[in-house]
Amino acid sequence: MANKDYYEILGVSKTADADEIKSAYRRLAKKYHPDLNKTPEAAEKFKEINEAYEVLGDDKKRSNYDQYGSADGPQFGGGGAGGFGDFFGGGGFGGFSDIFSDIFSAFGGGGRSGRVQERGDDINVAMKLTFDEAVFGVEKIISFNRIETCQKCSGTGAKNGRDFTTCPDCKGAGRVRMQQQTMFGTTIREGACPRCGGTGKMIKEKCEECNGKGCKKAQAQVRVKVPAGIDDGQTIRMRGEGNGAASSQGVSGDLNIKISVGAHPIFKRVGSDLSFDMYVPFTTCLLGGKVEIPLTKGKMSLEIKPGTLSGTVMRVKGKGIKMLNREAYGDILVTIKSEPPKNLSRKAKDLLKEIENEFDENDYPKFKEINNKMKGL
Ligand SMILES: [Zn+2]
Ligand SMILES: [Zn+2]
Repeated sequence: MANKDYYEILGVSKTADADEIKSAYRRLAKKYHPDLNKTPEAAEKFKEINEAYEVLGDDKKRSNYDQYGSADGPQFGGGGAGGFGDFFGGGGFGGFSDIFSDIFSAFGGGGRSGRVQERGDDINVAMKLTFDEAVFGVEKIISFNRIETCQKCSGTGAKNGRDFTTCPDCKGAGRVRMQQQTMFGTTIREGACPRCGGTGKMIKEKCEECNGKGCKKAQAQVRVKVPAGIDDGQTIRMRGEGNGAASSQGVSGDLNIKISVGAHPIFKRVGSDLSFDMYVPFTTCLLGGKVEIPLTKGKMSLEIKPGTLSGTVMRVKGKGIKMLNREAYGDILVTIKSEPPKNLSRKAKDLLKEIENEFDENDYPKFKEINNKMKGL
């Protein structure tokens, strides 16, 4: 594999500092992100940019690359599974998340330990929903990069899935005994054979499709059924849709979709309940009447009783949001606010004066009560 010029890919000089590299990456990642750029070459370009930043964005990998032409340092040949998971798995990927969060995040979680992965890493992505999509549910197709188990060799990495020889170190047992010098003397420890990664087998001829890795990077498209009633901050977990394992016996990781929900122009949401302030003419609060209020879909008429106090909360049962995985709905809480007219004409003032004179303290029992309490203070 010919070495790529990562500096050229990011369009920065060899002496560029970390900030320059980061901002070049950010700019190009947005330009070529497959969700934002639908041209056919965008996906390939996007991969290339990520590969370059994965190396140049990490001090240690960058210095290895400058020195040896490879992020992994000096090469000893042989290959194997090492190095492959670096982009998706642990390593410097944590730094990507903050950059991705404002576009479409796709960052691998967890770390990679052994040579043979029994379980692929989880992948975390973010999904933005409108208020209505969250309330009524929606189906969306999301695309992201992941490692998929190579179909051609069934994840074994060997040509046709069976071009193996027995590991010479463990004679096929997959486990070896190792001598260790400790303060108690020599101890013998048994563990997975490092040469074959515990499989007992060595690849004779590599699978051409995956170059012996047993897995490969792929652009995945997954259909996500978002259930009605999902709320901001909740996560949808799709089992087995994460990174594939680089092993025929391994299982794929999960895909975790973190949901964020947009605001509604009127409603505030608390769980499955909705609330809002309903302003009504002060005369409606006094005389009673009907007002139209919004629902999640359409409107309904709400009866205001005569003499309704401003601030009264009316509960409209079962008109809120569907509860997750239950055939039950929350409520709408309507806080009635008595609104005085903005401008009082001469005539209006005279009429109101007349009304004011119509009543005395005894017509306002609550007002009277608090005044009496104050006298005792
Ligand atoms: Zn072995
Ligand atoms: Zn393969």
